[in-house]
Amino acid sequence: MAVRSAMHQAGATALTELLQFPAPSADQRTLPCSCGQKADYRELRSKPVLTAVGKVKVSRPYYLCPHCHTGQFPADVELDIENTEFSPGVRRMQAAVGQEAPFDQGRQQMKLLADLEVTTKAVEPTAEAIGEDIAVRQQEEIQRALQLDLPMIVGEPVPVLYVQLDGTGVPVVKKETEGRRGKTEGQPAHTREAKLGGVQTTWDEKGYAVRDPDSTTYVAAIETAEEFGKRLYLEAWKRGWSRAAKRVVIGDGAEWIWNIANEHFPDGIQIVDLFHARQHLWGLARKLYPNQDAEQKAWMTIHQDRLDEGKIEDLVAALRSLDSSHPELAEKIRTEADYFEKNAKRMRYPEFRAQHLFVGSGVIEAGCKTVIGSRCKQSGMFWTVRGANAILALRCGQINGRFEDYWAARRAA
Ligand SMILES: [Zn+2]
Repeated sequence: MAVRSAMHQAGATALTELLQFPAPSADQRTLPCSCGQKADYRELRSKPVLTAVGKVKVSRPYYLCPHCHTGQFPADVELDIENTEFSPGVRRMQAAVGQEAPFDQGRQQMKLLADLEVTTKAVEPTAEAIGEDIAVRQQEEIQRALQLDLPMIVGEPVPVLYVQLDGTGVPVVKKETEGRRGKTEGQPAHTREAKLGGVQTTWDEKGYAVRDPDSTTYVAAIETAEEFGKRLYLEAWKRGWSRAAKRVVIGDGAEWIWNIANEHFPDGIQIVDLFHARQHLWGLARKLYPNQDAEQKAWMTIHQDRLDEGKIEDLVAALRSLDSSHPELAEKIRTEADYFEKNAKRMRYPEFRAQHLFVGSGVIEAGCKTVIGSRCKQSGMFWTVRGANAILALRCGQINGRFEDYWAARRAA
């Protein structure tokens, strides 16, 4: 560690030497300004920059436009340090630690792993700025994809491609929930729903789907179903939706999910995640037999069999025949019966299994935890929608193995 510190110091000294730009020669003392006029060279100005080897000083020519009073540092553009005191290498580290863990933990990791002193307050805006930049580039890509007909990607055919969707609440600051109703009647909302999509392609040699999280790529954002549908469509297309022999959309019963499925994945086989469907039954069992474990289990055995066997009409009839004099319970029974009735075609589990399709994933459930929960739902966290979306963009980029693509694109620009 001591040697590393010494090397950093030597490196910083050498780098500072390299970053002393000379004053421009007489014939290079004006530059075009964005206003259309010309900016004049004024002087050499220096600023500190934190780099991978520690703090350095960069001294470079400053130009000022006498017409619009806009100043510019061409060297900063070239070095990718415009309006920041962190080098691209350090910003990349801040983004990497910022998407992984709370910002203060990120600061500690920077110190331990890279021997760099940054403040918690510095990790957050840097990580968010990069996440936002990634999100902006994604929006451009989505717009392009929607305007042009996406070309067929040539490649290996994909036997089965799964698109899975879910939503999970992210705790937000007060201003983000103003005027929104909470889950409990009369209570304000404390969370906003982040939508998560997973695209998955693995199967084993017999053609059975494999739950391999490494083969899943994710998209996540707090946004409308309409916006999210486009985002997910692009991801599915990248993963080979157009050349998939079998296309499947898995979700819980939420209406926005099937709206997206119908609009963007119209030829996909729609399946209600068995895991979620069972949870609906459990919810009802608990209402029917409060605090009676044995009765709940006995009731579940009968009704879950019907569900698992895809006998949804029988299940719905059984639910509708339950009589309850309690109005709240009667309402709950009706809602659940409607849910199964409406989704009956998406619950033909034996048919799906016969085609070797996955019916109860757990993948998207796990994704909600790893992509969103572990980073955004820690106690004491309250997000702005903007901040959460920036971190989710970073996090998905990292998990999908595309974080380095972003830096490559930045260098190329
Ligand atoms: Zn100007």
